[in-house]
Amino acid sequence: MYNWNIIGHKKQLELIEHDIASKTLAHAYLFAGPSHIGKFSIAKMFVNILQCTNNLCHTCSTCKQIQAGSHPDTVVIDDEGTSIKIEQIRDVIGKLHMTKHASYKILLINGAHKLTPEAANCLLKTLEEPPPNTIIIMTTNNVRDMLPTIISRVRLLKFSAYSQKFLKEKLRALYPNTDDKTLDQVCSLSLGKSGRAIKLLEDSDLLASYRTMYNMLCEFLEDKPIYRKFGLVEEIVSDERDNKEFLDIFTHLVRSRLHKELTTNSNSPKKDHYLSLLSSLEKTRTLLKRNINARLALESLALKTSQ
Ligand SMILES: [Zn+2]
Repeated sequence: MYNWNIIGHKKQLELIEHDIASKTLAHAYLFAGPSHIGKFSIAKMFVNILQCTNNLCHTCSTCKQIQAGSHPDTVVIDDEGTSIKIEQIRDVIGKLHMTKHASYKILLINGAHKLTPEAANCLLKTLEEPPPNTIIIMTTNNVRDMLPTIISRVRLLKFSAYSQKFLKEKLRALYPNTDDKTLDQVCSLSLGKSGRAIKLLEDSDLLASYRTMYNMLCEFLEDKPIYRKFGLVEEIVSDERDNKEFLDIFTHLVRSRLHKELTTNSNSPKKDHYLSLLSSLEKTRTLLKRNINARLALESLALKTSQ
C-alpha cells in the first residue's frame, strides 16, 4: 500500500498496513529482533505514514522532519548511551502532553531494552493510560531484558534476519555493479543483516577490516601453531572491535563449515571437532558476558581450535 523503501519484512509491513487500514492501531508497538535489520527504519517509516497527510510522499516537510528527527509532534529517543534513564522518559512524556499540530503525538524509542527499571516503570503509566491520539513505537534487539509488564501492554512484532540467499538477491538488485564474490562475502559477514550489509558495501574501509577479521578466523580453523593463534588473539583484543561481533561471525563460519562437511560426507571426522567448537564458542560468549578477561577467554578458545 505504501512505498516503504525497506528490504524484505513483508509480513510485518503487511501487519502494520492492516492496522492502519482497519483503524485498529495499537497505542504501543514493540519491534523485536536482531540489530541492523531495519527495525528502526521501519519504525520511522511507520511514523511517516501516520503523520504525512500526503500518503507517505517522502517529500513534504513532515516526511523530511521525521526522517531528520526534528518533527515537533514526534519525540525520539535514539542515542548511543548504554541506558535510558527516568529523566529522559519524564522529559518525553511531558512533550507528549503538549498541544499537537499533526495527527498524532508519537514517541519513538530505539533500544527499549536499555530502559532502566525506574524509566520502564515511569513509561508503564503512560502505556496504561496514554494521552489521546498518542502512539508509542519501540524497538529492541533484546526482548528478554524487558519488563514483562511492558511487553504485555504493547503489540509485539517479531523481526528476523534474512536468509543469505534472500539478502544476496536484494543486494544484487541494489548494487548491480558489485561482483558475485563480494556479494557472497558481504552476505556472510553481515549475518543476514541488511543494515550491516549495506554499510559494508558503502564503506570500503569497513569491508576491508571485516575481510581481515574473516581471514583471521579462517586461520584459526587451520592447523597453525598455537603461538600464531595467540598472536591473532592479541590482535583481536587490541582492536577496538566488539568481541560479540567477532564471536557471531566465528560461529557463523564454523556452522557453515559444519554444514559443508555434513552435506558432502556425513561420516566426516571433522564433524565432531566443529560441534565441540560450537559449544566452546557458546561458553566463551557466556564468559565474556560475565566480564571475564577477554584475552584469557579467547586464548582458551584458540586452544580448542587446535584440538
Ligand atoms: Zn509526506
